[in-house]
Amino acid sequence: MAKHKKSVLNTDKGTSEEGVTNVESISKLKSKREKKFDAISLANAILNKSITALSKAITLVESKNKKHFNTANAIIQHCLPHANKSLRIGISGIPGAGKSTFIEAFGKHLLLQNKRIAILTIDPTSTISKGSILGDKTRMQELAKNNNVFIRPSPSGDSLGGVAKKTRETILLCEAAGFDIIIIETVGVGQNETAVHSMVDFFMLLQIVGAGDELQGIKRGIIELADAIVINKADGDNIQKAKLAKTEFSNILHFYPEKESGWQPKVFTCSAINNEEIAPIWKMVQDYVKVTSANNYFHLKRQEQNKYWFLQTLEDKLKANFFNNKHIQKELKNQLQLLEDNKTTAFAAAEFLINLKINSD
Ligand code: GDP
Repeated sequence: MAKHKKSVLNTDKGTSEEGVTNVESISKLKSKREKKFDAISLANAILNKSITALSKAITLVESKNKKHFNTANAIIQHCLPHANKSLRIGISGIPGAGKSTFIEAFGKHLLLQNKRIAILTIDPTSTISKGSILGDKTRMQELAKNNNVFIRPSPSGDSLGGVAKKTRETILLCEAAGFDIIIIETVGVGQNETAVHSMVDFFMLLQIVGAGDELQGIKRGIIELADAIVINKADGDNIQKAKLAKTEFSNILHFYPEKESGWQPKVFTCSAINNEEIAPIWKMVQDYVKVTSANNYFHLKRQEQNKYWFLQTLEDKLKANFFNNKHIQKELKNQLQLLEDNKTTAFAAAEFLINLKINSD
């Protein structure tokens, strides 16, 4: 109290202004406390399986408004000890492969096993349309109606890393809300699979048979990531072609080096629309969990993923911190001009900017 008085006496400002300043700081403190309280009560509601609270928290996590950042972090911190308990399954495939039809059939099968399922859809390719085309709930109509299913599209982001970071945090929140199975659906366009692979336990590639070469357009790296390849639409006139594709994929997979997981990737055919061969696919996923839990790979992979995301986040934050610095923004232009005029080298210019940043901190 005495200290407080002294600081008031030492100021040149008039009494009324001091009053305002004190009122302002008290109200700031109050709002900070309220925010913390809000975060904790929201987190507790999530732990009590409130879907409304879960949706609100995800909106905060996704928000680009800096004001929401601390609240979102506080919620995640509070939920973290209750996360990590689900099985995370990534499902990728080109548009039209039947991902949502498959997830509908697969999800219904999981519901019969008394599972609660969260389905997160990522579509970083939809930046132009500014909305997630995958997010349309009407695509999984029956699941969307079920209380044990939560469907949430990830908004399109400026970068894949940004979208993936938010999806990871959303996974943790869904786990805290007691969902046993988290399905991450993504459009297969190459780099997306790598991001999804780095946040799931099991990665499934959904394929369809076309005319001719079934492996066309599938990059070697993506096949390497897959724990299973599922050839969908194995019905009607397609059955024979699907069987042939299965043999072709199985042969090819044998040429790949053995996986660190000790798991030999499997190939399946199914008809999502007719609900055929869905149960064996779930059985296979359970086998994967058994094998990788027994050899501890399941746990190690999650640890590695955590480290990967920690380093990735650090890199993103350092970059943003550097390029958002106003001295850097100004000097960057000068250095680019000097480079153009052949008055500096790329190395010297980079060194100059880094030193400038260090000195301006
Ligand atoms: P997504 O873009 O990968 O999510 O694909 P959709 O699930 O929206 O399916 C694309 C189209 O393929 C739709 O017209 C579905 O009805 C159809 N489809 C999906 N699964 C099957 C299947 O197992 N057999 C057949 N014949 N058609 C399917």
